[in-house]
Amino acid sequence: MLKAKSALVTGSTSGIGLGIARALAAQGCNIMLNGFGDPDEIERIRAGLSENNGVTVAYCNADMTRPDEIAALVQATAQQLGSVDILVNNAGIQHTAPVEEFPPERWDAIIAINLSSSFHTIHRSLPLMRKKGWGRIINIASVHGLVASVHKAAYVTAKHGLVGLTKVVALETAGTGITSNALCPGWVRTEMVEPQIIARARELGVDIEEGGRNLLAEKQPSRQFVSVEQLGETVVFLCSPAASQITGVAIPVDGGWTAQ
Ligand code: NAD
Repeated sequence: MLKAKSALVTGSTSGIGLGIARALAAQGCNIMLNGFGDPDEIERIRAGLSENNGVTVAYCNADMTRPDEIAALVQATAQQLGSVDILVNNAGIQHTAPVEEFPPERWDAIIAINLSSSFHTIHRSLPLMRKKGWGRIINIASVHGLVASVHKAAYVTAKHGLVGLTKVVALETAGTGITSNALCPGWVRTEMVEPQIIARARELGVDIEEGGRNLLAEKQPSRQFVSVEQLGETVVFLCSPAASQITGVAIPVDGGWTAQ
């Protein structure tokens, strides 16, 4: 369905971003990977994605805290893959602490990576999408773009901001063939969430699996983790013709978290 389209997925060396890259590559999309990690492991992922799907897969290690590196990332995508048809803003980090103990440098890093980087990628990619009269911007927000939790001041602020940015871009691109939407996942078991599961298990004096069940029971009525494959397929749907009139929305994929 997306044969020969080009997709830039930020933070796609692990977790949700990698799941989305896999789902898009399976549809015939050429992919620009981005994110940090062990270079050999990243090269293994890049080559495997390319080989298994018969698509071009490139990688750029741009740091999402750096507007100059983000500009270079968009430029590299256009040069190596022809354009940026699909932009998935996924890179993100987490830090948990009460607001009066929250380290200011962690606040700055979360706002830069989880919010400002999406402004910079959109700012640079939109002209390319407008030129083609087609584009898909998908911002990976969170349930925390819609509701709050304790000890996540920077994260909740950034994700609420990202939902706002999604809506503004939707209005500014309405009727142009470009859509802008946010996904709002609940708990997904990735490297970002593992430390929170471990902390909960320690707090309760239980094993890791019980820690995970306890986190889910508190917020996510389905009591099941959302999978990266489910998020990948939701992104594919947003890229399909059926979704061409869906723009400016924040879609919860959260096992009922925000229905409460
Ligand atoms: P993850 O830690 O597995 O992935 C994060 C990715 O971002 C990695 O590829 C990492 O290398 C990259 N990254 C981090 N800092 C970067 C930087 N400065 N520059 C470039 N890349 C950087 O975590 P994940 O759970 O897959 O998170 C992906 C996104 O999904 C995040 O935006 C997160 O907020 C969001 N999200 C996660 C959950 C969850 O439960 N896991 C729920 C809702 C939303």
